[in-house]
Amino acid sequence: MKSFIDRTIEESSQNIGKCLHCQKCSNGCPISFAMDSYPNQIIRLLQLGQEERVYKSKTIWLCLACETCATRCPMEIDLTRVMATLREMAISKGYESPLPKIKLYHDMFLKSIKYTGRMFESGLFGLYGILAKQPFRDLNIGQKLFFKGKLSLFPSIVWRKKEIKKVFEKIKV
Ligand code: SF4
Ligand code: SF4
Repeated sequence: MKSFIDRTIEESSQNIGKCLHCQKCSNGCPISFAMDSYPNQIIRLLQLGQEERVYKSKTIWLCLACETCATRCPMEIDLTRVMATLREMAISKGYESPLPKIKLYHDMFLKSIKYTGRMFESGLFGLYGILAKQPFRDLNIGQKLFFKGKLSLFPSIVWRKKEIKKVFEKIKV
C-alpha cells in the first residue's frame, strides 16, 4: 500500500516532498491563529505519516481556500489543493470533522453546485441556517445583499448539466 504522503501527492498533484519548511505559508495564512497545526506543520505530519492526526485536525476544515499560501510558497506548492484533498480523504476514510458546522456548510456548498451548477447563495444560506439551528444568523446581511441586488431568490440556470454531472461522477461526491 502506498504511503500517506504518496497518496496525498497523487490525489492533490502537489509535490509536498519539496517543502523547505520555510513557514511562508503559515506566516501569511489569515486563519492560522485558529488552527491546531499551522499549514507547514500539516506538511510535516504528512511527511511523518501521521494520517490520523491530519484527518482529525481542525486546520484542514478551517482553510479558507484564499490561496495566500500557494502565492507565497517558493517551491510552488499549492497548499490550498492539498487542504481540499485532505478534507476529501478524511471524509472517504469515515473521519468526523472536529468542526461539524463547517462540514455541513462544505456538504451544502457542493450540493448547491451539483444541483444548480453554480453557487446558489440564498438557498445555501437559508438551508444552512435551518440545519445549523441558527435560522436568523445571516438575516441582516442577507437582507442588505438582497436589496443591493447581490442575492437572487432563484438559482441561475446552467445549461450544460451533463458536464457537471460527469465532474461529480468523477470525483464521486
Ligand atoms: S511556503 Fe511552501 S516551502 Fe515554505 S513551508 Fe510552506 S509549503 Fe513548505
Ligand atoms: S489557502 Fe488555506 S492554508 Fe492557505 S493561506 Fe489560505 S486559509 Fe491558510
